[in-house]
Amino acid sequence: MQLPQNLVRTLAALGALGGCFACERAQPVDDRRLAAADRDSANWLTYGRTYTEQRFSPLREINESTITRLGLVWSKELPTTRGLEATPIVLDGVLYTTSSWSVVYAMDAPTGQELWTYDPKVDRSRARTVCCDVVNRGLALYRGKLYLGTLDGRLIAIDAASGQPVWETLTVDPAQPYAITGAPRVARGLVLIGNAGAEFGVRGYVSAYDAESGKLVWRTYTVPGDPAKGFESKALEAAAKTWNGEYWKAGGGGPAWEAIVYDPELDLVYFGTGNGIAWYRDLRSPGGGDNLYLASILAVRAGTGELVWHYQVTPGDNWDFDATQPLLLADLLIGGQTRKVVMQASKNGFFYVIDRTNGKFISGTPFADGITWATGMDSVTGRPIEAPGAGSGPFLASPDPEGAHNWYPMAFDPSKGLVFLGARSGAVYLHAPAGKWDSDISMWNLGDDARYNGKLTADLAKAPPPRGELVAWNPVERRAAWRVTLPVSMSGGVLATAGNLVLQGRSDGMLAAYRSADGAKLWEFNAGTGIMAPPVSYRVQGKQYLTLMVGWGGPSGHFAAGLLGPLVKPGYGRILTFALGGTARLEPTPYGHTAPPVPAIRLDTTAAALAEGGILYQTYCAPCHGIGAIAGPVPDLRYSTAEVHAQLDSIVLGGARKALGMPWFGDKLDHAKLRAIQAYVISQARAAQELSRR
Ligand code: CA
Repeated sequence: MQLPQNLVRTLAALGALGGCFACERAQPVDDRRLAAADRDSANWLTYGRTYTEQRFSPLREINESTITRLGLVWSKELPTTRGLEATPIVLDGVLYTTSSWSVVYAMDAPTGQELWTYDPKVDRSRARTVCCDVVNRGLALYRGKLYLGTLDGRLIAIDAASGQPVWETLTVDPAQPYAITGAPRVARGLVLIGNAGAEFGVRGYVSAYDAESGKLVWRTYTVPGDPAKGFESKALEAAAKTWNGEYWKAGGGGPAWEAIVYDPELDLVYFGTGNGIAWYRDLRSPGGGDNLYLASILAVRAGTGELVWHYQVTPGDNWDFDATQPLLLADLLIGGQTRKVVMQASKNGFFYVIDRTNGKFISGTPFADGITWATGMDSVTGRPIEAPGAGSGPFLASPDPEGAHNWYPMAFDPSKGLVFLGARSGAVYLHAPAGKWDSDISMWNLGDDARYNGKLTADLAKAPPPRGELVAWNPVERRAAWRVTLPVSMSGGVLATAGNLVLQGRSDGMLAAYRSADGAKLWEFNAGTGIMAPPVSYRVQGKQYLTLMVGWGGPSGHFAAGLLGPLVKPGYGRILTFALGGTARLEPTPYGHTAPPVPAIRLDTTAAALAEGGILYQTYCAPCHGIGAIAGPVPDLRYSTAEVHAQLDSIVLGGARKALGMPWFGDKLDHAKLRAIQAYVISQARAAQELSRR
């Protein structure tokens, strides 16, 4: 049946065809449609819903009054215990999302019925050189194709109807520790993709590919390379003057691993850049310097990638303050003038409002408590005032490297002028060792002294405990309209809706809805596993739905799972969908241990071997298996069976479980070192058992 276009538009406006059913079939998701995504309330067409990435759904069937009737419609258990961070894309009642290892799912949104899956067969050995789990934050959709960045650095175009790959291109040098965890974005026929790897040693860049052919159109590096090879642009030549020493040998860093936003009005692409390598300024660039364009927000021409302006959020970063957090565009009335702004709630604890036409600083205001690295901000230049001693160690750095706000999406309700975000306070001793640093890109490569890593747990115990909040931030008045103290420090991405609602999940597995006017909690749901991903909302055949990826992971091994214990709920991942009147019951796949560990073997050891084992464990095992051998999303080694202990050499030195994501460490460890690690793990099991008897 072919409906006349004017009738289709009228019916769609009335919501009579549900998710604008007929007209969407007739209209591909092209530039015009993406530019009008805000009015397309039935669908969630891009990562941040619109080009502005405001994550504000105009739907209001689920609202502050009706939310008590919100219930589960369906859930789908996923065969993974790793982190899930994706924002689903929804078009015409079809939901597209990604799981760990960059696996893609297409499903019927109202029922959860699977339409197809696509597994890009990511090389599992990449797990060793990703900082924060084998996650993926989602897809882009354009003219019938989905675009996927894979953990091993490929960009793949997938036919949205069939799930078949159309083209594939490698966006990185596979010999380098690059990874992709971020969602691609689309800008007038180009697919934009960044990369990650500054905890290992890479040179960051953003690439733009022709959406149709997969041909590389431009690539813009974020930091200068080897001057002897010549600079790719005047901007990089200028940036090189802010570096010292042979910084290019370790890669420099600055990868754009998360925020990339297209602004069709100004035809600019904005992206945030990551930290440098090493973390510590004195090792990375002996003698100092701002190290452009690390920890910066950059604006480039969409068609060419040429740098138009830059704002360095954290000059000469020394604290892992990536500036990769979400970039949110809005027009704000500031001092009687409408300003086109880009906003970021930085890892460094300040909320930034920048004029996006020229990169001019408007304001930077602390949104989290206890900032120690800076004493304030130059209100004209926007340059932070670094605290004495903050650039040399050991220094009690706050925010800690997890950040006052990380990649977790925030949302903006334009009717209230409020930005909603999960904020966090936390501190850690950062140790900037004096002297020379030998970069090793095959491992965590921050410049830390391995002996210091062994003391991390003790040092953390001396620091104030981390705290979490949901904050409604007024970027014009530069203050919080309200704050909700959360029972955990780690909370996930945020959705705001015209139903006067803010929705957010947490590490303890709870999904909660708050009234956006005052932060009153109206509804909550136990999702069974910790939540990091943001909910999305859409409408199918007249009914409003909410969908959310549930799965805990990320940097949990470092900063959360081991130390926060019961406040973080690891488990199997799942997809949940809610609507008013939903009555489905959640039956989570059981995961984890209920009894304290019992060491499966006895191992004679010495105090010296045990101490060495602890240091080796923190260096090689803790990034996935958790600080102190208390694990989250991957197996808890304290519960290893006698069989596993017997196979340890073949697993760790021989790579017997490579296909399951357990990397090979034959180049770093040997039989004697492995015995020391084993002794340490057994001692940790014994300690947990003794603790449980008290
Ligand atoms: Ca980082």
